[in-house]
Amino acid sequence: MSDKYSREDIVNSVPQKGFFGHPKGLFTLFFTEFWERFSYYGMRAILVYYMYYELSQGGLGLDRTVALSIMSIYGSLVYMSGIIGGWLADRVFGTSKAVFYGGILIMLGHIALAIPGSLSLFFVSMVLIVLGTGLLKPNVSSVVGEIYAENDDRRDAGFSIFYMGINLGAFIAPLIVGTVGMDINFHLGFSIAAVGMFLGLVLFLVTKKKNLGLAGTIVHNPLTPAEKSRTIKIFSVAAVVIAAVVVLGLQYGFLTFDSFIAAVGILGILIPTAYFIVMYRSKKTNEVERSRLVAYIPLFIAAVMFWSIQEQGSTILAAYADTRTDLEFAGITISPAWFQSLNPLFIITLAPVFAWLWVKLGTRQPSIPQKFSLGLLFAGLSFLVILLPAYFGGTDALVNPLWLVLSYLIVVLGELCLSPVGLSATTKLAPSAFSAQTMSLWFLSNAAAQAINAQLVKFYTVENEMMYFGIIGGASIALSIILFLAAPAIQRYMKGVR
Ligand code: GLU
Ligand code: ASP
Repeated sequence: MSDKYSREDIVNSVPQKGFFGHPKGLFTLFFTEFWERFSYYGMRAILVYYMYYELSQGGLGLDRTVALSIMSIYGSLVYMSGIIGGWLADRVFGTSKAVFYGGILIMLGHIALAIPGSLSLFFVSMVLIVLGTGLLKPNVSSVVGEIYAENDDRRDAGFSIFYMGINLGAFIAPLIVGTVGMDINFHLGFSIAAVGMFLGLVLFLVTKKKNLGLAGTIVHNPLTPAEKSRTIKIFSVAAVVIAAVVVLGLQYGFLTFDSFIAAVGILGILIPTAYFIVMYRSKKTNEVERSRLVAYIPLFIAAVMFWSIQEQGSTILAAYADTRTDLEFAGITISPAWFQSLNPLFIITLAPVFAWLWVKLGTRQPSIPQKFSLGLLFAGLSFLVILLPAYFGGTDALVNPLWLVLSYLIVVLGELCLSPVGLSATTKLAPSAFSAQTMSLWFLSNAAAQAINAQLVKFYTVENEMMYFGIIGGASIALSIILFLAAPAIQRYMKGVR
């Protein structure tokens, strides 16, 4: 199937105008991802509270540290499963079907959470959402790349518009799902997340034929019959092994919550390492590409550090908003879930400013490694800022919410230096033979970060909060400085990519 249509045929099948001067397909992708992120971030905005709130408050009554670890592990697995989703799309059923199946699983996952019930339903939902997001997220993003011709200069702008869709969904969700979930009932909140994903699916189904044409329907690198039978064998063996480990682990007590978290932590680091080794040693990778890959490693490590802090915005800082912050502010009672809207709100308002700034600076703008270094600097500062309230007022007094607002603002300054650049740097620095996997490769930096966070959050207590924020923030700033000093060398290894 792969040779039947060329890249050009795919582009020609997509109406090239119709959405703010962009291909019509962008409309479909924008709103599908908008609703998917709406459901994901809406769910996350209340999930952490659902887990640690007492049964009498409608929660599951888990220990708070355990809840924070689960949030991180969950986030890690969601991005890790992108490897499977990307692979299935590339080799088995194409991106469009992957998005559709993914959306269904995600919706079912939210429905499972919407049913008042037990911890087991919660874990069922986690599995569904992890697999569903792995199928949907990397694939919907890669179709964005498919709807533009190779040399179309609207492509970068297209990705920026798409990025706005992500953050618009992430912004509105905590206000709606968060408010309903916290003020009325958690399960009602989760049902709204399910409805959101349902709307996304309907929109995708109804508009895809007209707007996306052939995009997403082609299996780029289909399995040969021999590979197919080998794959089925591998998958069956893996399924049996996993089932055996689970059964034996539960029986003999080695599969505990802690050992599971530790295993995901190890995988979070092992998988990207294996990826790098395979790409580096592949016969399809040439010398220039090898050098670029070497340059990509420090950037990837920086991204892990960055996402570690950014993602703690929905774990540690969410708990901080709930327990350490004075929620009576300017005559209104703030819902702790609303703080989750700040990051995307700042992204939406400041992204155009950054875009303007980079254009204005032209060739004087920071290089890619320097932008990563700036990302880490701001991430570190956002944590140093949030240790100040305890420094000035101790850990007993409730904190003015504006401190949190400031911390979220600062991390976004870093996010805008690192995140949009990160994705395009991955595309440019990964060897071309692996181009189908670049989206999942980039998401692995987030997966690794959250795998590490699942361990890190255990060290947080209100009493040692200054040390916690200080050490992590300090580490990020130290890494930022090292990266800044190494930037010229990294740039040389990038062999002309900028
Ligand atoms: N906030 C971004 C999103 O949900 C983060 C993903 C990433 O790791 O790049 O799309
Ligand atoms: N800024 C995040 C992302 O780009 C969204 C969030 O953390 O709420 O999608």
